[in-house]
Order: sequence, then C-alpha cells, then structure tokens
Amino acid sequence: MTRLFGIIGHPIAHSLSPAMHTAAFRALGVDARYAPVEVPLRFLRPMLQALILAGVEGLNVTVPLKEAVAPLLDRLDVSARATGAVNTIVIRNRRTIGYNTDGAGFARALGELSWRPRPDRQAVVLGAGGAARAAAWELARSGVGCVAIANRHPARAKRLAAWLSTRRPRGCVCAVPLREVDPAEADLMVNATTVGMRAADHPLIDPSRLRREAVVYDLVYTRETALVRAARRRGCVAANGLSMLLYQGAESLRLWLRRQPPIEVMRRALARAATAHE
Ligand code: NAP
Repeated sequence: MTRLFGIIGHPIAHSLSPAMHTAAFRALGVDARYAPVEVPLRFLRPMLQALILAGVEGLNVTVPLKEAVAPLLDRLDVSARATGAVNTIVIRNRRTIGYNTDGAGFARALGELSWRPRPDRQAVVLGAGGAARAAAWELARSGVGCVAIANRHPARAKRLAAWLSTRRPRGCVCAVPLREVDPAEADLMVNATTVGMRAADHPLIDPSRLRREAVVYDLVYTRETALVRAARRRGCVAANGLSMLLYQGAESLRLWLRRQPPIEVMRRALARAATAHE
C-alpha cells in the first residue's frame, strides 16, 4: 500500500519540499506519496485529525502552524520543546511525536561552509522569529563564544535572548539594537529575517563592513539574496538557505523511515525545483 506523507501550512502551493521528498522516496524504492496540504490556522485541529485518520505517517509543518501544532501532539522531542516549534511530525499507531529539524539542518548547512563554533568566535543572528529561534538555539548550544541577536522590533530580540539564556547556552547570548550591529565584529552573520525574499530588498547590515574571513548564511532560500552576493564580492564564504532546507528535510525523512536519506538526490531535486520556482 502506498505510504502517505505531506507538508501542512498556509500558503503551501509553492513549497519545494514535495519535489525533494518525492525524489528521495523514488531513489529509496519506497512506494510513497508526499503532498502539500493547505491548512489554514483555524482548521489545524480538525485537519490534523483527518490526516491521522487517513493513515498519514509523517508531516512537515511550515508557516503559520509551527508553534500552534505543538500542543496538539501526543509527545514533543527535545528539539521541539527547546524551540517551542514543530516542523516534523512522526505518526505511528495514530500517536504523534513532534520534532524540530530546522536547528539540525542549520548546523549541517554551516558545517558545509566549514564554519566551526569556537569560544573565541562571535555570531550575529538578524531576526527573532521562528527561524531565528532555531538558528540561535543551535548556535547557543554549539560552543560559539557569543551569540548576538538583532531584530527590527528590539523587544522581540530581548525576549529571545532572555529565553535562550535560560536554556543553558555554552557561551553568552545577548540582544543588540539592529542599528548598532557592527558587521566587522561578526565571525558568522546569519540573516534569519524575511528580508531578501524580494528582489528589491536591501541587506539589513552593510556588507562592505564584513571581514573577509567571516561566513555569511542567509536562511532565505527562494533566491540568491543581495546580502549573499555582496558578501561573496567581499571575499566571504556565503550561502543561501537551500542547504538548510535540504538537511532539515533529510532529517525528517530519516525520522519517518529510519533510513539514511539520499542526500545528493534530494539536493539535485531541490535545486531543480528552486530554479523552476524563480
Ligand atoms: P517569522 O517568524 O515571520 O519572522 C520574520 C522575521 O523577519 C522577524 O524577525 C521580523 O522582524 C523580520 N522582518 C520582517 N520584515 C522585516 C523588515 N522589513 N525589516 C527588518 N526585519 C524584518 O519568519 P520565519 O519563519 O522566522 O522565517 C524567516 C526567514 O527564514 C524566511 O525567509 C524563511 O523562508 C526562512 N526560513 C528558511 C528555512 C530554511 O530551511 N532555509 C527554514 C525556516 C525559515 P520583526 O520581529 O521586527 O517583525
């Protein structure tokens, strides 16, 4: 019987995940279907119940449901408890377990850029939304010396920094006003805002102030942002969020199937889907 998987969110039509997971199932010889399911926030509870009853074995969860879905699940893994958000649900015998693989995906994407957390290094995270929370949590527990969080609405950055400080970070965590961010002090600059999603968007920091040795990671995956392009021109190692999307998806697949994901197949499928989407 065909196994059922999918992604829930709103809007969901342009998600790149179906292409990536469909290619992975095919490569692994698994008879499965992965479908995007439009789920407005107000219908989350009944629609989740319907998907469980229909025999769905695994779901990805995206905006705006990542936080709202957590209290509806039977159990939360530490990754979901720590971030307060769920992007992966494993369903076995109609019991649901919530995970957050965004942090793991982010860490593997940084590893690909040869970024290594060290106590003498400083990371700056721009943004304080859901993605920033996962990225900052991953950095705070990775052993980087200091994580500075800067957000357009500073109160949100302060709340995130205060919350992370209670999660036993290995280095210091602080909030800084966006206009006071000095790119020259960053060993790692992470854009975890939506700025860059539109072609006309300007980077939130001045890329000409970045040090050449700095690594720049932009979570926006729908395009090569102006920040990434400018950082590369500066001589920095820089990438957009496609690799994080790949690795968070690979980790979801591993949780659902308990098998090693075919990374290169998934990477190629994602690149094709992203190009078609542009
Ligand atoms: P979110 O929770 O809605 O947060 C949006 C963030 O962007 C907030 O910090 C917000 O600041 C900031 N922002 C929005 N417009 C801004 C502007 N004009 N100037 C300055 N800051 C602005 O969204 P999210 O889920 O965290 O997603 C953020 C980005 O990460 C998106 O591009 C998303 O596609 C990407 N993402 C990528 C992956 C991946 O796998 N690569 C995974 C998850 C998310 P305020 O708080 O001040 O409004």
